Amino acid sequence: MNLDDLPIRDDLRGKTPYGAPQIDVPVRLNTNENPYPPSPELVADLAAEVAAGAATLNRYPDRDALALRADLAAYLGHGLTSDQVWAANGSNEVLQQILQAFGGHGRSAMGFEPSYSMHPIITTGTNTAWVRAAREEDFSLDPGRAAAAIEEHDPDVVFLTSPNNPTGTAQPLETIKAVLAAARGMVVVDEAYAEFAREGTPSALTLLPEHPRLIVTRTMSKAFAMAGTRLGYLAAHPAVVQALLLVRLPYHLSTLTQTAARVALRHREDLLGTVAALRAERDATVAWLRDKGLTVADSDANFVLFGRFPDRRRVWEGLLEHGVLIREVGPPEWLRVSIGTGEEMAAFRAAMEEVL
Ligand code: PMP
Repeated sequence: MNLDDLPIRDDLRGKTPYGAPQIDVPVRLNTNENPYPPSPELVADLAAEVAAGAATLNRYPDRDALALRADLAAYLGHGLTSDQVWAANGSNEVLQQILQAFGGHGRSAMGFEPSYSMHPIITTGTNTAWVRAAREEDFSLDPGRAAAAIEEHDPDVVFLTSPNNPTGTAQPLETIKAVLAAARGMVVVDEAYAEFAREGTPSALTLLPEHPRLIVTRTMSKAFAMAGTRLGYLAAHPAVVQALLLVRLPYHLSTLTQTAARVALRHREDLLGTVAALRAERDATVAWLRDKGLTVADSDANFVLFGRFPDRRRVWEGLLEHGVLIREVGPPEWLRVSIGTGEEMAAFRAAMEEVL
């Protein structure tokens, strides 16, 4: 028997699962992780906390993750309190819960492409119609055109990704405000890469007090260097959090996950201490690629989109032959490289020299 023989939902027939190739190579620059592992101090602290928590694993975890949400609110600042914060297993699960509560049959969600490809997958997976709007040539959004697209399609949920994956483009607050003014439904600003933004790129968190339909999502997978923990979260009006409680599975965040996230938050200075180095490495990578005569999108994230290659597969494969794995993603002719350590980026540059 194969997949097609199963009575699977019609809209899932012929689809392929999301996923970057997982290839064991020396230099992995394909999934926008933080390349710096947790410090020995964090590992020791986590081991002690997990040992203490293990003695209670016969019991379910704190169902509403109250202590963790209070810690996350304190980290975010902006006067946020725990009733405005919600957490789940990665921001992907947060996004899915948002669609479960605000999307569904007969409803639609809109995004501006190219953007994070899980947005349409989560949207259609929750039986919500996906409406695709376009970005400008330089991957920015024109506030007037974005508002017009929203007015035309009247979606129940609008996704803005800032900084955007895979382009690295951050949204000015004016654009987010224009979208909020045009939208009847919920506006989700996916800020998975917010901590990497350049100076002068404010977070949409500053707009929350005035905008009860705004949801800002974040993750500990990127700047926080905790991708393996699976912890994503959001900030929104307390009523939005109450809506998500209607769809979340009970005890969705394990005791171990909540413990690991709280330990990481305690060590945040240490973890976020790598951000400055990654930003500098990113800016150097943009400059180097431009110096090579390539077209490179401005980046506020921990990755860089560059091109344009009539045969991008050849370049991707050439880098792989030199032990460097990047991502074949985004518009045709472009490739995305995640920012690694100084040594990893030197290996990327050396491999590029060979391939170009
Ligand atoms: N949003 C964006 C824009 C992303 O790029 C990613 C990860 N690739 C996520 C959300 C999801 O991350 P996680 O589920 O690890 O929090």
